[in-house]
Amino acid sequence: MTTLKSYVYDRWVAGQGRPATLVNPSTEEALAEASSEGVDFGAALAHARDVGGANLRQRSFAQRAEMLRAMAQAIHAKRDELIDLAMANGGNTRSDAKFDIDGATGTLTAYAELGQSLGDARWLTDGDTISLGRSSRVAGQHVLVPRAGVAVHINAFNFPAWGLAEKAAVALLAGMPVISKPATATALVAWRVTELLVESGAMPSGVFSFIAGATGDLVDRLGAQDVLAFTGGGSTGTMLRSKPNLLASSAHVNVEADSLNSAVLGPDLERGGDSWNLFLSDVARDITQKTGQKCTAIRRVFVPRDQVEAVREDLLDRLATVKVGNPVTDGVTMGPVATASQLRDVRAGIEKLVASGASVLLGGTHAVHGLGAPEGRGYFVAPTLLAVEHGATADAVHDHEVFGPVATIVPYDGAAEVVALVRRGGGGLVSSVYSEDRAFASEVVLGIAPFHGRVTIVNAKVAGAWLGPGTVLPQLLHGGPGRAGGGEELGGLRGMALYLQRAAIQGYGPLVDHIAGVKRA
Ligand code: NAP
Repeated sequence: MTTLKSYVYDRWVAGQGRPATLVNPSTEEALAEASSEGVDFGAALAHARDVGGANLRQRSFAQRAEMLRAMAQAIHAKRDELIDLAMANGGNTRSDAKFDIDGATGTLTAYAELGQSLGDARWLTDGDTISLGRSSRVAGQHVLVPRAGVAVHINAFNFPAWGLAEKAAVALLAGMPVISKPATATALVAWRVTELLVESGAMPSGVFSFIAGATGDLVDRLGAQDVLAFTGGGSTGTMLRSKPNLLASSAHVNVEADSLNSAVLGPDLERGGDSWNLFLSDVARDITQKTGQKCTAIRRVFVPRDQVEAVREDLLDRLATVKVGNPVTDGVTMGPVATASQLRDVRAGIEKLVASGASVLLGGTHAVHGLGAPEGRGYFVAPTLLAVEHGATADAVHDHEVFGPVATIVPYDGAAEVVALVRRGGGGLVSSVYSEDRAFASEVVLGIAPFHGRVTIVNAKVAGAWLGPGTVLPQLLHGGPGRAGGGEELGGLRGMALYLQRAAIQGYGPLVDHIAGVKRA
């Protein structure tokens, strides 16, 4: 059995005490154990802040970019091994695992390219120099400089590689050292990624640390110059952001939490047409990819009332081909959920939706034997399609996220009603409108945009170049208001704002220009 160690103060530290056990969710076989007990979190923070921070701040964006590129290469070189680990510890199919691992290298590479384009600078200017008098003798310039603390990253269980890499890429490029903590249950991939990064020698001393197991008193030790970026359940996020030390010090906290993402089928689309089929593919993919354990997965499927019957039939046809089982078995297209508690939560969630008026069209809470899994073992759940008659009264459909292969069809009548129903999600990561009708698409997109971090507009014209609404891209914002946590990640340079302090430098113009590195004509 593998023992996962933490990487702190440039050393691997084995935890003491009773470790948590990581299992294979298809077989329930124990794979590894992890404990962070005995890690000196005060020393870990001091080393990252003092040594790691200084190392990063003295490097230019182009040099930090080289580091990110080397990190991506180190991960990519062991892609096959990492895919196997994700299949074993995460219950991922091979293609789910690639999504996670390639997402990690892709995001690191995208930020490496961005860093390269920023060249020799070590911080950013924000806007032009502003003359504060008749001449340029008194001037002001906004700058964005790296915060002088540490960025603590706490990640969810579903994307152990991508979650680690997407947060690290942005913070490191901005110039902040990182302490990364994966969800313990699926930490095997993140731990191996860290081993690869350390072995590669890509990262200068102190810039990256890794916690295997619980965070101990780490979060309680954070202060004004530190950043906490969390991804996970809404209640954990609320508990963390409410910590007295974070509130008292105005520390910067970013929360990426739950989301009742939605897809809206426009009334203009005809059954069997290319746009209609794209809609069906996206919904079916989001139910099954990563066994529905994707923060961006479509949970609510809004369909014009007169098209509900057709959508039901077509979706059931597509889902009938899904083979649930141990991903190492030939033919399996959907793995188990990641943990026993996840399985309990998914079943309880389906019951909650049914109690709120949903009927089960496919799947449900019954025990499922996974192909290739030992009898009675594994955390398997069937792809589950539900439907409600009246969206307005099915409260749980709009406010309870079932983090598994579950979606609900909700009928609507007209653009105004669907906007109101989508908004009932209370703030989400992504919503998609499938339509070729400009008036309908405009009304719905603008109506739901204030409630989302990302809105996608889809029709057959994007087929071929379309990755689906669930794919988070480094160039575009990831996050969402309200229930989704109110956070913002990625979005190119925008994601770096969390790790940079905006300061207005004001005074004698030539000196302001010199300090800010501004050259005037
Ligand atoms: P979770 O139970 O909230 O755990 C998330 C992370 O928080 C894990 O690393 C966990 O560590 C850590 N954690 C839990 N209690 C903590 C505490 N008291 N102090 C410090 N850290 C603590 O969520 P999950 O089950 O991993 O993930 C599922 C949820 O994440 C879903 O609701 C999903 O919607 C959401 N999610 C959101 C996004 C997004 O981008 N918005 C992405 C993915 C997932 P341990 O594992 O060691 O407990």
